[in-house]
Amino acid sequence: MTAICYPKTAKLLSVAQAQQNIRLAVHSIDEQECVPLSSAFGRVLAESVYSPIDIPPQRNAAMDGYAFSSADITAGHAFSLRVVGTSWAGKPYSHNVEKNQCVRIYTGAVLPEFADSVIAQEQVSRYGDTVGFPEDSKPYKNIRAAGSDVTQGEVLVSAPQKLTARDLGLLAAAGVAEVTVKRRLKIGFFSTGDELTGLENTLLPGQIYDSNRYLLAGLLIDPNYLITDLGVIKDDPRLLEQTLVSAAGCFDALISTGGASVGDADFVKQTLQKCGQVNFWKLAIKPGKPLTFGRINHCWFFGLPGNPIAVLVTYRQFVEPALRQMAGTLPTTPLQLKARCETELRKSPGRQEYQRGILKQTAPGAFTVKPAGQQDSHQLKVASLANCFIVLDDDCSGVSAGDMVTVEPFEVYISS
Ligand code: AMP
Ligand code: MG
Repeated sequence: MTAICYPKTAKLLSVAQAQQNIRLAVHSIDEQECVPLSSAFGRVLAESVYSPIDIPPQRNAAMDGYAFSSADITAGHAFSLRVVGTSWAGKPYSHNVEKNQCVRIYTGAVLPEFADSVIAQEQVSRYGDTVGFPEDSKPYKNIRAAGSDVTQGEVLVSAPQKLTARDLGLLAAAGVAEVTVKRRLKIGFFSTGDELTGLENTLLPGQIYDSNRYLLAGLLIDPNYLITDLGVIKDDPRLLEQTLVSAAGCFDALISTGGASVGDADFVKQTLQKCGQVNFWKLAIKPGKPLTFGRINHCWFFGLPGNPIAVLVTYRQFVEPALRQMAGTLPTTPLQLKARCETELRKSPGRQEYQRGILKQTAPGAFTVKPAGQQDSHQLKVASLANCFIVLDDDCSGVSAGDMVTVEPFEVYISS
């Protein structure tokens, strides 16, 4: 097959260039499905949803108190009204009201037609059926108009929003029971390497446990992904080819780890070249230099490096944005913050580095960061201790203690 781009071995491709290449190559899937709202969290909306009703549907009280008509009062004067009934949330007051009468009302209860004002119960004095209102009682307050949140026909949530808890609440308030979302992406992943063994086995000399599949399985948790663990493939080009060809028919995206470089046991690039289209890049990134990206028929393929931290970094920088785009969301960028670096950081110019760091919020909006430990690409313990990447640009030649650096937090919550 024709290669869409061939390796530029001499020059390292920048992170931004590789991200741009991937962004231009992949497209959102077209297929969609209808799901009940209760299963829609995190799914990508395929069709915008319009409100079938006003929210709130009826005028109601914003406070527990007393509903009255402003026609019965003189502004700036204390007054008394007789309570003739109660409007409960879910049980409106439906009888007549005469002049100088009011209705006990609770938050969310429908406002009786005669009333245009509610005064909070704390502000009045009640003696039997009579309520005394103070002189500073303001008319027209504490009322939620029908449609004051959303009016009938207004867009509730626009496609292609990835539905949040807030969106689900809003859709439910409008009585929307089902939504049309993009179908889930089918994603397969596997490890390559003769040295890898499963967790059920005792290690033999030369073996290591396959950690990448567990790392990837965690990274791939998303309501829009249906993931399949395809196990470990030996460093055998025939087995690899069989796996690629058969898996390509079943998945929208395939992710492998290991064998992506140019060593004698690295077969990913040449195998993909044989059965698909290849973009192979040597990237100006550390860790994670070699990345094989391409496709086999309609299945996108990401051949990540073998070292676990290179997997972590390249997944986040290249695979995650691509999968999000395929799943149908608008382009997003990871949150980046500026933090004061507590220690010196060593770095040689030439590659963009993603060092594993520990970020702290010392006051709202004020951050410090330090390395989580040594920065070798096999060191999972350091990555486990870390809560962010410290992002150092290609041309950076080191950081002095006290300098401001860019960080990408892994999570929203961080230690204080
Ligand atoms: P490779 O890219 O296949 O040369 O692998 C680079 C390094 O990553 C080697 O030290 C491998 O043993 C290690 N490695 C490859 N795959 C895995 C894996 N699935 N789990 C843990 N380490 C791996
Ligand atoms: Mg290998």
